[in-house]
Amino acid sequence: MEIWNSAIGTLKKKVPESTFDLWFKSMHFVEIKNNCVFVEVPNKFFKDWISENYMSIIMDAVNSVGKKKNRNFDVELVVMESDLLQTKEHAKIELKTPSKREDDYIWRHKLRPEYTISNFVKGPSNEFVKAACEKVIENPAREYNPLFIYGGVGLGKTHLLNAIGHGILDKNKGARVCYITSEEFVNELVKSIRYEKMEDFRKKYRSMDILLVDDIQFFAGKKQTQEEFFHTFNTLYENQKQIVLTSDKITKEIAGLEERLRSRFEWGLIADIDYPDTEHIVAILKEKAEKTHSLKLDDDLAFFLASIINSKPNIRELEGMLTRLIAEASLDGKDINIEFARNALKTFIRNKDNPESIENIQKEVCKYFKIKISDIRSKKRIKSFSEPRQIAMYLCRKISKDSYPEIGKKFGGKDHSTVIHAVKKIEKRISIDKEFKNIIFKIENQIKLRG
Ligand code: ADP
Ligand code: MG
Repeated sequence: MEIWNSAIGTLKKKVPESTFDLWFKSMHFVEIKNNCVFVEVPNKFFKDWISENYMSIIMDAVNSVGKKKNRNFDVELVVMESDLLQTKEHAKIELKTPSKREDDYIWRHKLRPEYTISNFVKGPSNEFVKAACEKVIENPAREYNPLFIYGGVGLGKTHLLNAIGHGILDKNKGARVCYITSEEFVNELVKSIRYEKMEDFRKKYRSMDILLVDDIQFFAGKKQTQEEFFHTFNTLYENQKQIVLTSDKITKEIAGLEERLRSRFEWGLIADIDYPDTEHIVAILKEKAEKTHSLKLDDDLAFFLASIINSKPNIRELEGMLTRLIAEASLDGKDINIEFARNALKTFIRNKDNPESIENIQKEVCKYFKIKISDIRSKKRIKSFSEPRQIAMYLCRKISKDSYPEIGKKFGGKDHSTVIHAVKKIEKRISIDKEFKNIIFKIENQIKLRG
């Protein structure tokens, strides 16, 4: 810890303040093991960016401290939570049961400060679950107990769980709020058994007012954990304490979850979070840009950014994209507009060999319309194939700039006049049909950026 703190002090002097705020502030010391300093970063983009750009100065800073101790340190970045396997070994274990007198801090320190209800942007895919969380904050252990939140990766489950913790503590400083990931629960349980501390373990968890367990799907197949959690659950439930659980799967899909736990998880309210739609993504991007980066995104740019991510967006990736964009702009001292974003993000989203080749354009169009490459190259005339085929031909002409005969050849040997006809038809429709134009715009961006 000391080493990291002094290293951070050195780094603060070495890099511009904006860089420090953007990248270094969110790094957290985890532990030192075998002369390696483990530091936690929020996501993979941070990890990649820091590794590429700042690793050498971080190593220097750490080792200038290490020298005094005659030791040589390595530094390893670990990604928070998104990859639980990575953090598994570094999970922190605390077995202390704080007394009622100890303040808010004890309960709050594990909560991420920015994950509050007011920072959670509402949209059609999450308004139900957000409302449920607000109800829990207002009236814990009354209406929805347990509250079971499920949804895909990066859609805000951890955010909401933290938000409930903050909300409860804002209202009642003395509340005993515990946020824990299921992995941490397992690790702590294992240690407690090994060091004969089960009494403490039970006392700690069974005395909570609010128990927030993240990613409960990791209980799958862990018999002893489930047994222990079953009793914790019962004790809390009987004492009218609130339990909130999250999972990336619905209860019946968690393989190896005991029936008695499954049924208990379904006693209260089950709420799901779905993927956000484009307008919602735009709202989230604007909110994040403003809150995290003090930047106002205009609508066009926000819609552009929303258009280049795939149909199942992960909000964590969205944030990574924004962070990257802003970092590139600050390095170059440029304003962020669509053109800049297009270029900046080109390197961010790794392209295959040639994204603008006819083959790749066909692939992307097929992906969008969920049809097979063989169908787009076939002679089949049904609309669900012929329309994507014409769109692909149009985009090939526009993006790859290959000749009409060349394009025709790669669409199963069609005549150049067929390609010309397709291009004209799509151009005409774009000029009169705004929704259609947006679809083409979206596919085009995906081709250019994703490859
Ligand atoms: P999950 O736990 O479901 O994998 P997280 O809660 O970690 O997802 O969310 C990933 C990131 O996306 C977090 O930084 C979170 O703040 C952000 N996020 C997700 N949903 C929203 C939302 N509706 N409004 C604002 N930020 C969100
Ligand atoms: Mg999570």
